[in-house]
Amino acid sequence: MKRIGAHVSTLGGVQNAPENAFRIGAKAFALFTKNQRQWQAKPFTPENIDGFMRNIEKYGFSIDHILPHDSYLINLGHPEKGALEKSRTAFIDEMQRCEQLGLRLLNFHPGSHLKRISADESLKRISESINIALDKTKGVIAVIENTAGQGTNLGYKFEHLAQIIHGVEDKDRIGICYDTCHGFVAGYDIRTPETFVETFERFEDIVGFKYLKGMHLNDAKKVLGSKVDRHESIGKGEIGLEAFRLLMNDQRFDEIPMILETPNDKIWKEEIELLYSLI
Ligand SMILES: [Zn+2]
Ligand SMILES: [Zn+2]
Repeated sequence: MKRIGAHVSTLGGVQNAPENAFRIGAKAFALFTKNQRQWQAKPFTPENIDGFMRNIEKYGFSIDHILPHDSYLINLGHPEKGALEKSRTAFIDEMQRCEQLGLRLLNFHPGSHLKRISADESLKRISESINIALDKTKGVIAVIENTAGQGTNLGYKFEHLAQIIHGVEDKDRIGICYDTCHGFVAGYDIRTPETFVETFERFEDIVGFKYLKGMHLNDAKKVLGSKVDRHESIGKGEIGLEAFRLLMNDQRFDEIPMILETPNDKIWKEEIELLYSLI
């Protein structure tokens, strides 16, 4: 079945996320395990950890349907040694926080070359950063998100994702999260049955569905290929409802967390109902 949810608030502590997800009728959720705009974070208290695990059970979620997202500050492909080190340390900390909460996935944006090294060199650094983090942790899968290709961000082409995976030693602990808004503005059309089939055939050929561990369900404010990352509510943007109907009726997307990151959190409950109604 489809596991649709949203990126919910952790106000008051991570232990509050499962209830926030339950309240909107979610069957999956995403969260930040720390403030996404700061480098440092307080270690979890027993109340955070025990409360989180207790609430996952209480509200009927499975660990496999929870997709934490890392900090926006981290750049695993950074051109400068010092800054790269800082990002790698922060990423390991994010992985360890997931471990502590018993989580199995960590979603992150691959990185940026900042015009100071080549895309190729930066992609190599990203793979190396992942290898280092996997070496220092257990059980958590590093889940790369495709990007919109804004600025010097890498990961907007399926070939980038494939190249990063290629450089990762432990293939059992690497995965992909497909963001529909990012894919669309990066040039991957899914608006009609024909373009939908074609785009995901290319995904299968270049990356492989076996690596697909999650989805971000977002409509797009900007047009196909614009490389501008502006999320829109489902059915209200340039992608439109048909693409989401196709997604909802495709079994290749079963049993993975499908997360709304749409701008109006007041209508998440209705958006989740809308998506389920398309099945
Ligand atoms: Zn993201
Ligand atoms: Zn996303």
